[in-house]
Amino acid sequence: MMNGYFVTGTDTGVGKTVLSALLCMALDARYFKPIQTGQDSDTDTVAALAGLDASRLHPPAVHLLAPLSPNQAASKEGRVLDIATIQLPFSSGNRPIIVEGAGGALVPIAPGQCMADLMARLGLPVIVATRTGLGTLNHTLLTLEALRLRGIDVCGVALIGDPNPDNRRDIEHLGGVPVIVDIPHLKAVTREALRGLASEVNIPAPVPGGDVLAMDRAHVWHPFTQAATAPAPVQAVRGQGAKLFTADGRELIDLVSSWWVNPHGHAHPAIAQAIARQAATLEQVLFADFTHEPAARLASELAAILPGGLNRVFFSDNGSTAVEIALKMAYQYWRNQGRAERTRFAAFQGGYHGDTVGAMSVGMSSGYYQDFEPLTFKVDFLPYPATWLDDADIEEKETQALAVLANYFSVHAGTVAGVILEPLVQGASGMRMVRPGFVKAVADLARAAGGMVIFDEVMTGFGRTGTMFACEQAGVVPDIICLAKGLTAGFVPMAATVATEALYQGFLGDTFDRALAHGHSFTANPIGCAAALAGLALFEQEGTLARIAALEAVHAQRLTALSNHAGLRRPRWRGSIGAVELAGGDVGYGAEIGKKLKRYFLEQGFFARPLGEVFYILPPFCLTPHELHRAYDTLERALEEIA
Ligand SMILES: *Cc1c(COP(=O)(O)O)cnc(C)c1O
Repeated sequence: MMNGYFVTGTDTGVGKTVLSALLCMALDARYFKPIQTGQDSDTDTVAALAGLDASRLHPPAVHLLAPLSPNQAASKEGRVLDIATIQLPFSSGNRPIIVEGAGGALVPIAPGQCMADLMARLGLPVIVATRTGLGTLNHTLLTLEALRLRGIDVCGVALIGDPNPDNRRDIEHLGGVPVIVDIPHLKAVTREALRGLASEVNIPAPVPGGDVLAMDRAHVWHPFTQAATAPAPVQAVRGQGAKLFTADGRELIDLVSSWWVNPHGHAHPAIAQAIARQAATLEQVLFADFTHEPAARLASELAAILPGGLNRVFFSDNGSTAVEIALKMAYQYWRNQGRAERTRFAAFQGGYHGDTVGAMSVGMSSGYYQDFEPLTFKVDFLPYPATWLDDADIEEKETQALAVLANYFSVHAGTVAGVILEPLVQGASGMRMVRPGFVKAVADLARAAGGMVIFDEVMTGFGRTGTMFACEQAGVVPDIICLAKGLTAGFVPMAATVATEALYQGFLGDTFDRALAHGHSFTANPIGCAAALAGLALFEQEGTLARIAALEAVHAQRLTALSNHAGLRRPRWRGSIGAVELAGGDVGYGAEIGKKLKRYFLEQGFFARPLGEVFYILPPFCLTPHELHRAYDTLERALEEIA
């Protein structure tokens, strides 16, 4: 990992450049000013002051002529900057690097990007240059708070100007960071003067975080993992956009949205800030007797974006509970209506709905938990006509499946409580896709038999399949929809089971026994609701559905091109999801080929997690089409090298 520091200031003209020169001398470091604005060259100044030769100087990545903020200076030249194009320059040997910002921490670099985002991207600890005069404490503390809220590690402050012990004490006390050097007013800023100060620079060593992997090995039980044979987990330390950064200095592009939960990218500042604000306002209150704005607003917004009469939102904690609640709602609804004989649930072969006991019952055929079968309740499993590109038999498969369904619903017309399905895409059983018309036909048959239609959109919700919800493409308004994974933009565990108003009315009455006797300690947690609201706002602000369409176009292009590859079969895609099966090896969740592919992708800087022989990509929507192309290039290379 690169070692060094990022130098920022409370504002412009504080003395960042002098501080940078001092640090270069004190640490025998290299110097890099990524964005230079104005006629002067800070690189030349530092070179002269610190006596650096060319081997220790890196030219700016961007040079703009107007002495303005980078964003304004760029727009004067008709340019739009992008911090994603700025990298730390590499040098052999492990000489530290001093990176000097422009202006202060929140100075705009491009629309939606400021200097602090660049700091986060470069990942170096930050030193803040500040003045010692009157009125500067506030600037300093604001800068420290803003950087902390963005997860940026500030390792110290440099005080520039007449010594001010009171400010020094307050900064260390209130700001919680040490002063690493005092730079008094220098008569002449010269190399000699700085040399005298260099020995006074005192940057504390980072506090060691402990051996995380050892603590993990000793005390953590990981999900869906055979710890006896699994490789050690990867230690993640930071996320940004589609990338995860690891403790051993790797950058991994997250091709599975961290188990499908992350739509807008990791550590998105808008959501991080919404969470911080909410945590400092109201972190939690019991939801049986209280309400609060984040929950009421989120329920209203969900009702507004969901189709039809899906209008009543019951909050819980994860996808499994969202499903449990949907099943209990359907079951009790019929009892409340005096139709206690409607107890039967139907589900689809291969469907996955979560790992709690009720969710396992309706997901038994996904094949993950045969041992628990005796604990589960009986569910009827219906055929699922999965399809893919150039599937010649799909009409016939659908016709046969629908015949079985029609028979099932007519035989059991009076006793079906509901049917549950993952509309358009079965996720965990291998990204198995059906055509929208099939989903519509299922809903019509279930309705004709009087049963509830329950859509488990835990994975498909929030844009994943190209529309906000998959049910829109099928033209179906279910009676109940289960939402979870993308709900809080991947930040906080939370779920929502949303029912129609008519279903909700079925629970009203004079007695408690008609009410839904279900609730979780953290129901409608305000922090989760605030994260969800911020995440929903991003769909507009970032043009998310258009981004998904661009990703879908890449899936379509690349998977179509791969359709004749001998090593692959059944290419398929919908919205942001692309999937294909690896032919010729073993099959099932433990398939060796999937593990090999996962290792290969890790070596190439991607995190993928094949479901057995099914390779799929289900990325955060901020993944660029270029990055998605690179992932497919990697798949093609993997097929050559592994096979
Ligand atoms: C992941 C998933 C669940 C379970 O959600 P958890 O949050 O893991 O409990 C349920 N249904 C579907 C379709 C899922 O993909």
